[in-house]
Amino acid sequence: MTISAITSDTGSAGIADAFATARETFRSGRTRSLQWRKAQLEGLLAFIDECEGEIAAAIGEDIGRGPMATFMADVAPVRHEIRHTLGKLAGWMKPTSVSLNAATAPGKAWTMPEPKGVVLVIGAWNFPVLLTIHPLVSALAAGNTAIVKPSELSGATAELIARLLPRYLDPGAVRVITGDAAVSRELTALPVDHIFFTGSTAVGREIMRSAAANLTPVTLELGGKSPVIVADDADIDVAARRIAWAKSINAGQACIAPDYVIVTESARPRLVERLIEELPARASADSTRIVNRRHLDRLANALAGHGGHQIGGRVNVAKLTVSPALVTDPDLDSQLMREEIFGPILPLISVPTIDDAIDFVNDRPKPLALYVFTESRETERRVLENTSSGSVGINHMLYQLLVDELPFGGVGASGMGRYHGKHGFDTFSHHKAVLRKSTRPDPAVTYPPYGRAMQAI
Ligand code: NAD
Repeated sequence: MTISAITSDTGSAGIADAFATARETFRSGRTRSLQWRKAQLEGLLAFIDECEGEIAAAIGEDIGRGPMATFMADVAPVRHEIRHTLGKLAGWMKPTSVSLNAATAPGKAWTMPEPKGVVLVIGAWNFPVLLTIHPLVSALAAGNTAIVKPSELSGATAELIARLLPRYLDPGAVRVITGDAAVSRELTALPVDHIFFTGSTAVGREIMRSAAANLTPVTLELGGKSPVIVADDADIDVAARRIAWAKSINAGQACIAPDYVIVTESARPRLVERLIEELPARASADSTRIVNRRHLDRLANALAGHGGHQIGGRVNVAKLTVSPALVTDPDLDSQLMREEIFGPILPLISVPTIDDAIDFVNDRPKPLALYVFTESRETERRVLENTSSGSVGINHMLYQLLVDELPFGGVGASGMGRYHGKHGFDTFSHHKAVLRKSTRPDPAVTYPPYGRAMQAI
């Protein structure tokens, strides 16, 4: 474990020190002003701007991703979020008036956002800057202090964040702690005021169990199997190109990547033909490798036992790569169809009708994202109204993530809570309810014993 602060403490003492410092800074009250919040956001912007080259190099070292892809996936979205938040923050911090009813008038009522306190942000490795700094933007904008734990699987990026990030921020307000699951467990046992976790559904359960001991609220940004439904009337060429593109980004290691395809039978032959062409073409543009041997073995196992027809899917242990694979008609009980894939393998199954596709989705845990390719508003409506997922992309994928004010988050097994833009600010704020009454008049009739006048109300 390393701690990025002036302190040389390690182990539990270091974690306790980070928490005590963050709490003390919060209690000082200095994090509440608009000026302090903006200064932290400017600091985050300077970190991204000045360290962009080092960020790209660290992510390259961790997962082999090229600088352009890192710019698109980690750097640009965070930079945009910071700028968007800087522009909107003063408005978000304003109280909101609410109207009074007959029993409460006269007076004035409003809600006011207040920071929660010390928040814990635990990140995942697949977009190691985006998934730690993006929630931190919202946490600091809302006036909190924070402990940040990047994933140990992207060790070079975690080390970079720990070494450089604190230079740009109020040193008493943000502490970066690196380490593995054991460190994470210690952190989630702290009585922090909010835990924001990005990672797997299995670990999400543990986080929630741990948070329950302190009644700490949680945001769980989890994963799962995000389906793509392709209807008879879809533009098949565009669907194939976009599915192959989205599956290839980060070698399929993206939480909202399409996991598998459900296509109606009449559209199947053309879609399969086009995917066989598109998958290798799109994958060649992304140099990202599989994060480690354990995950490579997991993907190799999924390929070994799916019982379907496979095209592609060469596993290179030395280079930690898997070439893109299309697997048609896999066994529905196989690992490939039961677990989140998180790699460049695309299973495809076919069904007679869109309603069968909807049933297939509803028979499984609620996904983080659901995609549908159709030219029909009626099909779109049927899918939207009869399925549940964190987000939906119609005729494209992943872009829903980049809309400033669309909430990002899961539902059911894919998570709880949301962030991005105002949604992130709200996640890290408590919206306190306030009622002000004047002391005059103070009619005796409103106190017991109640007279006739009150009984008439
Ligand atoms: P993971 O759950 O293995 O680890 C995530 C974080 O949790 C790491 O920082 C890790 O140190 C910590 N951790 C691991 N075990 C822990 C434990 N027992 N107790 C407490 N903390 C623990 O996930 P991962 O492999 O890093 O990421 C892949 C998963 O994350 C996929 O399921 C993916 O879909 C999901 N994901 C979701 C989003 C999203 O925004 N919803 C984004 C990216 C990834």
